[in-house]
Amino acid sequence: MPGRIAVSNRAAALWQTATLTEIRRETPHASTFRFAVPGWAGHLPGQHLMLRLTADDGYTAQRHYSIASPPDDTGHIELTLDHVEGGEVSGWFHRVAKPGDEVEVRGPLSGFFAWPGDRPALLIGAGSGVVPLMSMLRHHRARALPVPLRLLVSARDPENLIYAREYGPETTPVFTRRAPQGVPVGRLAASHVAPLLTAGRPPAGWEAYVCGSNAFAEHASRLLVAAGQPVDRIRIERFG
Ligand SMILES: Cc1cc2nc3c(=O)[nH]c(=O)nc-3n(C[C@H](O)[C@H](O)[C@H](O)COP(=O)(O)OP(=O)(O)OC[C@H]3O[C@@H](n4cnc5c(N)ncnc54)[C@H](O)[C@@H]3O)c2cc1C
Repeated sequence: MPGRIAVSNRAAALWQTATLTEIRRETPHASTFRFAVPGWAGHLPGQHLMLRLTADDGYTAQRHYSIASPPDDTGHIELTLDHVEGGEVSGWFHRVAKPGDEVEVRGPLSGFFAWPGDRPALLIGAGSGVVPLMSMLRHHRARALPVPLRLLVSARDPENLIYAREYGPETTPVFTRRAPQGVPVGRLAASHVAPLLTAGRPPAGWEAYVCGSNAFAEHASRLLVAAGQPVDRIRIERFG
């Protein structure tokens, strides 16, 4: 079956060392961090991991992060982190981290938000909520999967659109504060969602994946239900 990937549950229970190999700026507030994790057992697009930082005095901080990279067998994974003001872990990554630094990761976690690549996927994300959806989009491209995939991504303005250079015709960006000339400004609305659920709808229907803050997830899932998407085919990941 296209896109089928085996993931070991046992590996998800173990902390592994991840060595930072590269930092790429995506927007003024978000960067991608690439890690070498030689023992990584693989993941499905949409899954996340637990990351742990340990200070010299033994103090630890753990946070969940979605995996941005598609499944592959290179022993590398990528995370994209927003710099949260006053944030302990995101602040360390954005201000202190450098290639060669080691952190610990445990995963992959959460099969519920995973997309194996076997069904039409309608992806809706806002801000860094696009991170797990990008793993799905990259996987779709890398494997040239035959199932349709569409992405609606909401950002404040073009400068804050994470992965802007990577989007193609499958993606519709929605800008809430400022947009390029000729593009309307406003929240994600029924007019973005409804056409995909009528004219663009695949015969078997979509599996919808929504990711972002609590408020955004609430808003997007209401729009989906109002447009006729069955509730049991809406999967939600909340970062809030
Ligand atoms: C399943 C899952 C996947 C996630 N994936 C990602 C991801 O791919 N990329 C990413 O950047 N984040 C992601 N997050 C959020 C991440 O886990 C952290 O919450 C975030 O990085 C903030 O941690 P921190 O230590 O920097 O801030 P903290 O020190 O925990 O918080 C500092 C202050 O910021 C507030 N705050 C915390 N988180 C946020 C937030 N997300 N937005 C606004 N204010 C906040 C807190 O209330 C607090 O006042 C994910 C969360 C979950 C549950």
